[in-house]
Amino acid sequence: MAQAHLEVKLLSSTPSPLTLIYASFRQCYSPGFVGDMWPRLLRGEISLDRQAALIQDVLASGHTSPIEHVSFTFAVQGVSRALTHQLVRHRIASYSQQSQRYVDESGFEYILPPAVDRIPEARDLFLRFMDKTQKAYLELQQTLKSNGRTREEANEDARFILPNAAESKIVVTMNCRSLLNFFELRCCERAQWEIRKMAWKMLELVRFELPVVFDPAGPKCERLQYCPEGEKFTCGKYPLQD
Ligand SMILES: Cc1cc2nc3c(=O)[nH]c(=O)nc-3n(C[C@H](O)[C@H](O)[C@H](O)COP(=O)(O)OP(=O)(O)OC[C@H]3O[C@@H](n4cnc5c(N)ncnc54)[C@H](O)[C@@H]3O)c2cc1C
Repeated sequence: MAQAHLEVKLLSSTPSPLTLIYASFRQCYSPGFVGDMWPRLLRGEISLDRQAALIQDVLASGHTSPIEHVSFTFAVQGVSRALTHQLVRHRIASYSQQSQRYVDESGFEYILPPAVDRIPEARDLFLRFMDKTQKAYLELQQTLKSNGRTREEANEDARFILPNAAESKIVVTMNCRSLLNFFELRCCERAQWEIRKMAWKMLELVRFELPVVFDPAGPKCERLQYCPEGEKFTCGKYPLQD
Protein backbone atom coordinates (compact mmCIF):
# COMPACT_ATOMS: atom_id res chain seq x y z
CA MET A 1 0.00 0.00 0.00
CA ALA A 2 1.51 3.33 -1.07
CA GLN A 3 0.75 6.95 -1.79
CA ALA A 4 -0.44 7.53 -5.38
CA HIS A 5 0.27 10.56 -7.53
CA LEU A 6 -1.79 12.24 -10.22
CA GLU A 7 -1.13 11.29 -13.84
CA VAL A 8 -3.19 12.53 -16.79
CA LYS A 9 -2.60 11.25 -20.32
CA LEU A 10 -4.36 12.30 -23.47
CA LEU A 11 -5.34 9.04 -25.18
CA SER A 12 -7.17 10.24 -28.23
CA SER A 13 -8.93 13.13 -29.90
CA THR A 14 -11.06 13.80 -32.95
CA PRO A 15 -8.87 13.96 -36.09
CA SER A 16 -8.38 17.32 -37.87
CA PRO A 17 -10.09 19.13 -34.97
CA LEU A 18 -9.54 22.69 -36.18
CA THR A 19 -10.76 21.96 -39.71
CA LEU A 20 -13.77 20.06 -38.41
CA ILE A 21 -14.81 23.03 -36.27
CA TYR A 22 -14.18 25.39 -39.18
CA ALA A 23 -16.28 23.22 -41.52
CA SER A 24 -19.10 23.10 -38.98
CA PHE A 25 -19.13 26.88 -38.66
CA ARG A 26 -19.00 27.28 -42.45
CA GLN A 27 -22.05 25.00 -42.81
CA CYS A 28 -24.00 27.42 -40.65
CA TYR A 29 -23.24 30.42 -42.85
CA SER A 30 -22.75 29.21 -46.44
CA PRO A 31 -25.34 28.08 -49.00
CA GLY A 32 -23.02 25.29 -50.26
CA PHE A 33 -22.58 21.80 -48.84
CA VAL A 34 -19.68 21.43 -46.45
CA GLY A 35 -19.38 17.77 -47.49
CA ASP A 36 -18.12 18.98 -50.89
CA MET A 37 -15.78 21.52 -49.30
CA TRP A 38 -14.23 19.00 -46.87
CA PRO A 39 -11.57 17.44 -49.20
CA ARG A 40 -10.41 20.93 -50.23
CA LEU A 41 -10.15 21.97 -46.58
CA LEU A 42 -8.09 18.90 -45.75
CA ARG A 43 -5.78 19.71 -48.70
CA GLY A 44 -5.13 23.09 -47.06
CA GLU A 45 -6.83 25.30 -49.68
CA ILE A 46 -7.81 27.55 -46.80
CA SER A 47 -4.88 28.00 -44.44
CA LEU A 48 -5.16 26.83 -40.85
CA ASP A 49 -4.52 30.43 -39.76
CA ARG A 50 -7.57 31.63 -41.69
CA GLN A 51 -9.63 28.79 -40.32
CA ALA A 52 -8.50 29.65 -36.78
CA ALA A 53 -9.32 33.35 -37.28
CA LEU A 54 -12.92 32.58 -38.27
CA ILE A 55 -13.32 30.17 -35.36
CA GLN A 56 -12.02 32.78 -32.92
CA ASP A 57 -14.44 35.44 -34.20
CA VAL A 58 -17.50 33.23 -34.12
CA LEU A 59 -16.69 31.74 -30.72
CA ALA A 60 -16.37 35.25 -29.30
CA SER A 61 -19.94 35.90 -30.43
CA GLY A 62 -21.17 33.06 -28.20
CA HIS A 63 -21.98 30.60 -31.00
CA THR A 64 -20.28 27.57 -29.48
CA SER A 65 -22.18 24.46 -30.60
CA PRO A 66 -19.77 23.64 -33.53
CA ILE A 67 -16.99 22.88 -31.03
CA GLU A 68 -19.10 20.00 -29.69
CA HIS A 69 -18.01 17.95 -32.74
CA VAL A 70 -14.50 17.61 -31.32
CA SER A 71 -13.82 15.42 -28.30
CA PHE A 72 -10.81 14.53 -26.17
CA THR A 73 -10.27 11.31 -24.22
CA PHE A 74 -8.03 11.29 -21.15
CA ALA A 75 -6.75 8.46 -18.96
CA VAL A 76 -6.36 9.54 -15.36
CA GLN A 77 -4.74 7.71 -12.46
CA GLY A 78 -3.55 8.62 -9.01
CA VAL A 79 -6.80 10.33 -8.06
CA SER A 80 -9.05 9.72 -5.07
CA ARG A 81 -12.60 8.43 -5.10
CA ALA A 82 -13.43 11.88 -3.64
CA LEU A 83 -12.21 13.37 -6.91
CA THR A 84 -13.94 10.92 -9.22
CA HIS A 85 -17.24 11.47 -7.42
CA GLN A 86 -16.97 15.18 -8.24
CA LEU A 87 -15.79 14.49 -11.78
CA VAL A 88 -18.71 12.27 -12.74
CA ARG A 89 -21.14 15.03 -11.75
CA HIS A 90 -20.19 16.54 -15.12
CA ARG A 91 -22.95 14.88 -17.13
CA ILE A 92 -21.94 15.99 -20.61
CA ALA A 93 -19.12 13.46 -20.72
CA SER A 94 -18.41 9.71 -20.90
CA TYR A 95 -16.61 7.72 -18.21
CA SER A 96 -15.10 4.27 -17.65
CA GLN A 97 -13.87 3.83 -14.09
CA GLN A 98 -11.87 1.04 -12.49
CA SER A 99 -14.29 -1.28 -10.72
CA GLN A 100 -13.97 -2.02 -7.01
CA ARG A 101 -15.93 -5.25 -7.60
CA TYR A 102 -13.70 -6.80 -10.22
CA VAL A 103 -10.42 -5.33 -8.98
CA ASP A 104 -9.10 -6.58 -5.67
CA GLU A 105 -8.42 -3.52 -3.48
CA SER A 106 -6.46 -5.32 -0.75
CA GLY A 107 -3.32 -3.36 -1.67
CA PHE A 108 -5.16 -0.11 -2.39
CA GLU A 109 -3.13 3.05 -2.83
CA TYR A 110 -4.27 6.37 -1.38
CA ILE A 111 -4.10 10.09 -2.07
CA LEU A 112 -2.50 12.07 0.74
CA PRO A 113 -3.82 15.68 0.82
CA PRO A 114 -0.85 18.13 0.83
CA ALA A 115 -2.23 19.98 3.89
CA VAL A 116 -2.34 16.71 5.85
CA ASP A 117 1.17 15.84 4.64
CA ARG A 118 2.53 19.16 5.99
CA ILE A 119 1.37 18.54 9.59
CA PRO A 120 3.29 15.63 11.16
CA GLU A 121 0.50 14.61 13.62
CA ALA A 122 -2.14 14.76 10.88
CA ARG A 123 0.03 12.75 8.49
CA ASP A 124 0.70 10.13 11.15
CA LEU A 125 -2.99 9.79 11.96
CA PHE A 126 -3.90 9.57 8.27
CA LEU A 127 -1.28 6.89 7.50
CA ARG A 128 -2.24 4.82 10.54
CA PHE A 129 -5.86 4.92 9.41
CA MET A 130 -4.91 3.80 5.89
CA ASP A 131 -2.97 0.90 7.36
CA LYS A 132 -5.80 -0.14 9.67
CA THR A 133 -8.31 0.11 6.82
CA GLN A 134 -6.22 -2.11 4.59
CA LYS A 135 -6.00 -4.75 7.30
CA ALA A 136 -9.74 -4.55 7.95
CA TYR A 137 -10.49 -4.81 4.20
CA LEU A 138 -8.35 -7.94 3.90
CA GLU A 139 -9.91 -9.52 6.98
CA LEU A 140 -13.44 -8.76 5.82
CA GLN A 141 -12.71 -10.05 2.30
CA GLN A 142 -11.29 -13.31 3.70
CA THR A 143 -14.19 -13.73 6.14
CA LEU A 144 -16.72 -13.26 3.34
CA LYS A 145 -14.91 -15.77 1.12
CA SER A 146 -14.67 -18.36 3.85
CA ASN A 147 -18.42 -17.95 4.35
CA GLY A 148 -19.23 -18.94 0.78
CA ARG A 149 -19.09 -15.59 -1.05
CA THR A 150 -17.34 -15.56 -4.44
CA ARG A 151 -14.27 -13.37 -5.04
CA GLU A 152 -16.38 -10.64 -6.73
CA GLU A 153 -19.05 -10.81 -4.04
CA ALA A 154 -16.40 -10.46 -1.32
CA ASN A 155 -14.80 -7.46 -3.11
CA GLU A 156 -18.23 -5.94 -3.65
CA ASP A 157 -18.98 -5.85 0.07
CA ALA A 158 -15.47 -5.35 1.46
CA ARG A 159 -15.17 -2.12 -0.55
CA PHE A 160 -17.74 -0.48 1.71
CA ILE A 161 -14.98 0.21 4.21
CA LEU A 162 -12.59 1.80 1.72
CA PRO A 163 -11.94 5.51 2.34
CA ASN A 164 -12.58 8.46 0.01
CA ALA A 165 -8.78 8.66 -0.24
CA ALA A 166 -8.61 5.29 -2.08
CA GLU A 167 -6.91 5.68 -5.44
CA SER A 168 -8.90 5.25 -8.62
CA LYS A 169 -8.31 5.21 -12.37
CA ILE A 170 -10.76 6.57 -14.90
CA VAL A 171 -11.07 7.25 -18.62
CA VAL A 172 -13.01 10.40 -19.45
CA THR A 173 -14.17 11.83 -22.76
CA MET A 174 -15.55 15.34 -23.12
CA ASN A 175 -16.28 17.48 -26.11
CA CYS A 176 -14.72 20.95 -26.34
CA ARG A 177 -17.82 22.78 -25.17
CA SER A 178 -18.17 20.58 -22.12
CA LEU A 179 -14.44 20.94 -21.43
CA LEU A 180 -14.75 24.75 -21.46
CA ASN A 181 -17.53 24.50 -18.87
CA PHE A 182 -15.47 22.00 -16.86
CA PHE A 183 -12.44 24.32 -16.85
CA GLU A 184 -14.55 27.34 -15.87
CA LEU A 185 -15.77 25.50 -12.79
CA ARG A 186 -12.80 23.37 -11.83
CA CYS A 187 -9.78 25.58 -12.63
CA CYS A 188 -11.26 28.16 -10.25
CA GLU A 189 -9.47 28.59 -6.90
CA ARG A 190 -12.81 27.84 -5.28
CA ALA A 191 -12.80 24.28 -6.65
CA GLN A 192 -11.41 21.53 -4.44
CA TRP A 193 -7.58 21.30 -4.72
CA GLU A 194 -7.33 17.81 -6.23
CA ILE A 195 -9.85 18.23 -9.05
CA ARG A 196 -8.41 21.71 -9.71
CA LYS A 197 -4.94 20.23 -10.16
CA MET A 198 -6.31 17.64 -12.58
CA ALA A 199 -8.32 20.25 -14.51
CA TRP A 200 -5.22 22.41 -15.04
CA LYS A 201 -3.29 19.38 -16.33
CA MET A 202 -6.11 18.55 -18.75
CA LEU A 203 -6.18 22.18 -19.90
CA GLU A 204 -2.45 22.14 -20.55
CA LEU A 205 -2.86 19.05 -22.78
CA VAL A 206 -5.77 20.38 -24.84
CA ARG A 207 -4.22 23.86 -25.18
CA PHE A 208 -1.31 22.22 -26.97
CA GLU A 209 -3.67 20.33 -29.31
CA LEU A 210 -6.20 23.08 -30.04
CA PRO A 211 -4.99 26.52 -28.92
CA VAL A 212 -7.68 28.44 -30.81
CA VAL A 213 -10.33 26.99 -28.52
CA PHE A 214 -8.37 26.50 -25.32
CA ASP A 215 -5.95 29.43 -25.09
CA PRO A 216 -8.66 31.64 -23.57
CA ALA A 217 -9.99 28.78 -21.37
CA GLY A 218 -9.63 28.61 -17.60
CA PRO A 219 -11.63 29.70 -14.57
CA LYS A 220 -14.71 31.74 -15.48
CA CYS A 221 -13.20 34.99 -14.18
CA GLU A 222 -10.82 34.95 -17.16
CA ARG A 223 -13.79 35.25 -19.51
CA LEU A 224 -15.86 37.55 -17.31
CA GLN A 225 -12.98 39.77 -16.13
CA TYR A 226 -14.60 39.82 -12.69
CA CYS A 227 -15.07 37.28 -9.91
CA PRO A 228 -18.62 35.90 -9.60
CA GLU A 229 -17.84 33.88 -6.43
CA GLY A 230 -18.67 36.57 -3.90
CA GLU A 231 -16.68 38.02 -1.04
CA LYS A 232 -16.46 34.78 0.96
CA PHE A 233 -14.96 32.67 -1.83
CA THR A 234 -13.05 35.08 -4.07
CA CYS A 235 -9.32 34.48 -4.50
CA GLY A 236 -8.87 38.18 -5.22
CA LYS A 237 -7.41 37.82 -8.71
CA TYR A 238 -10.28 39.79 -10.26
CA PRO A 239 -12.57 42.37 -8.65
CA LEU A 240 -15.95 41.20 -7.42
CA GLN A 241 -19.04 41.87 -9.54
CA ASP A 242 -20.74 45.11 -8.44
C1 LIG B 1 -16.94 24.91 -6.36
C2 LIG B 1 -18.00 23.85 -6.56
C3 LIG B 1 -18.75 23.43 -5.48
C4 LIG B 1 -19.75 22.46 -5.65
N1 LIG B 1 -20.45 22.02 -4.56
C5 LIG B 1 -21.41 21.10 -4.70
C6 LIG B 1 -22.16 20.62 -3.58
O1 LIG B 1 -21.94 21.05 -2.46
N2 LIG B 1 -23.11 19.67 -3.79
C7 LIG B 1 -23.39 19.19 -5.05
O2 LIG B 1 -24.29 18.34 -5.19
N3 LIG B 1 -22.70 19.59 -6.13
C8 LIG B 1 -21.71 20.52 -5.98
N4 LIG B 1 -21.00 20.93 -7.08
C9 LIG B 1 -21.28 20.30 -8.38
C10 LIG B 1 -22.05 21.24 -9.32
O3 LIG B 1 -23.30 21.61 -8.79
C11 LIG B 1 -22.27 20.56 -10.70
O4 LIG B 1 -23.09 19.41 -10.52
C12 LIG B 1 -20.99 20.11 -11.34
O5 LIG B 1 -20.03 21.12 -11.26
C13 LIG B 1 -21.25 19.76 -12.81
O6 LIG B 1 -21.39 20.97 -13.53
P1 LIG B 1 -22.41 21.12 -14.73
O7 LIG B 1 -23.80 20.74 -14.35
O8 LIG B 1 -22.21 22.51 -15.26
O9 LIG B 1 -21.78 20.08 -15.79
P2 LIG B 1 -22.55 19.10 -16.79
O10 LIG B 1 -23.36 18.14 -16.05
O11 LIG B 1 -21.47 18.57 -17.67
O12 LIG B 1 -23.53 20.04 -17.57
C14 LIG B 1 -23.01 21.01 -18.50
C15 LIG B 1 -24.08 22.07 -18.72
O13 LIG B 1 -25.18 21.45 -19.37
C16 LIG B 1 -26.39 21.99 -18.86
N5 LIG B 1 -27.16 20.91 -18.24
C17 LIG B 1 -26.73 19.62 -18.02
N6 LIG B 1 -27.70 18.90 -17.47
C18 LIG B 1 -28.76 19.73 -17.30
C19 LIG B 1 -30.06 19.58 -16.76
N7 LIG B 1 -30.50 18.43 -16.24
N8 LIG B 1 -30.88 20.64 -16.76
C20 LIG B 1 -30.49 21.83 -17.27
N9 LIG B 1 -29.25 22.06 -17.78
C21 LIG B 1 -28.42 21.01 -17.79
C22 LIG B 1 -26.00 23.09 -17.85
O14 LIG B 1 -25.94 24.32 -18.54
C23 LIG B 1 -24.64 22.67 -17.43
O15 LIG B 1 -23.82 23.76 -16.96
C24 LIG B 1 -19.99 21.90 -6.94
C25 LIG B 1 -19.23 22.34 -8.02
C26 LIG B 1 -18.24 23.30 -7.85
C27 LIG B 1 -17.41 23.72 -9.04
